[in-house]
Amino acid sequence: MEIVMRILTGDTPTGRLHLGHLVGSLESRLALSREHDCFVLIANVHAFTTRADRPAEIRRDTLEIVRDYLAVGLDPDRVTFVVQSEIPAIAELTVLLAMLVPFQRVMRNPTLKDELVAKGLVDRHSFGFPLYAVGQCADILTFRAELVPVGEDQLAHVELCREIARRFNLLYGDTFPIPEARVGRVGRLAGVDGAKMGKSAGNAIMLSDDSETIRARIARLPTTRQSITEPGDTNGVLFQYVRTFLPAERADELADRYTRGDSIGDGTIKAEVAAAIDALLAPMRSRRAEYLEDAPLLDLLRDHARRANAIAGDTLARAKAAMGLAF
Ligand code: ATP
Ligand code: MG
Repeated sequence: MEIVMRILTGDTPTGRLHLGHLVGSLESRLALSREHDCFVLIANVHAFTTRADRPAEIRRDTLEIVRDYLAVGLDPDRVTFVVQSEIPAIAELTVLLAMLVPFQRVMRNPTLKDELVAKGLVDRHSFGFPLYAVGQCADILTFRAELVPVGEDQLAHVELCREIARRFNLLYGDTFPIPEARVGRVGRLAGVDGAKMGKSAGNAIMLSDDSETIRARIARLPTTRQSITEPGDTNGVLFQYVRTFLPAERADELADRYTRGDSIGDGTIKAEVAAAIDALLAPMRSRRAEYLEDAPLLDLLRDHARRANAIAGDTLARAKAAMGLAF
């Protein structure tokens, strides 16, 4: 019999989910959720690191992301959707874990440094910004997760989590499993401008985008060729999309022709990629349309919060007992 693992992963509600989420993490969540005990967390508290002045947007995007999960096919009977702010144990564990890691160690995290630059926060980030990196460790450890399916940019965060869990176990006795990261089939999908596709970056193709938007956005993928008989570069964004969204054989054939400058135009390739993405997303769009009402989603989230709080409360009690904090 296969061993059932506890899985935790999540997304910040800074917008809807995009193709990068799909190939970086959602596909593996979907596969893992068929065999394992899967928790998917919506980090709505962490969204305040960049949007403290826009609480209504955070609330809206929290529900939009739940719609995206259902649209992709995550089964709410198998997967627990966790709204971070509904789980008080996470906040409490964040404070306790923050005692175990030097501040400079948190700030050395390369993903955090990149985010500060990309989000324009270098010299004006909140106290809560570095705390979110520790909070993410608390998200994972609260659910005693063993496996964390993520995109490449999150490896540094999971590494921090492993360090903190090891330190906790060393100081106070074995309490937490040491979680492992698992990167999906594409660790870092580029956006239509060539940088990492990101919700906050304005360069994404959303899972809920319509056919015309997909076509127009793919048409913007940067390429450098001047003519269809000029050999092209297959290491750029266009071919990352070709390899990610077209069948392997077709991708090889196109790469071969492109490298030889065999009269195949960028526009032709883009149209084929856009059609493949549209076919991939079409069933998700129609499933999404079944969940337009807020009320049933809120009921679902409340039910899942009960499930999540049972585990989270138990973990917190164990951690506090280990630390001599049970009175
Ligand atoms: P933001 O721009 O607000 O940071 P984001 O698009 O980076 O949003 P997150 O909520 O930060 O999305 O990340 C959720 C998960 O999706 C993480 O596991 C992350 O590694 C993964 N992910 C995000 N963008 C990509 C991408 N372009 N390619 C692969 N995985 C990605
Ligand atoms: Mg991100």
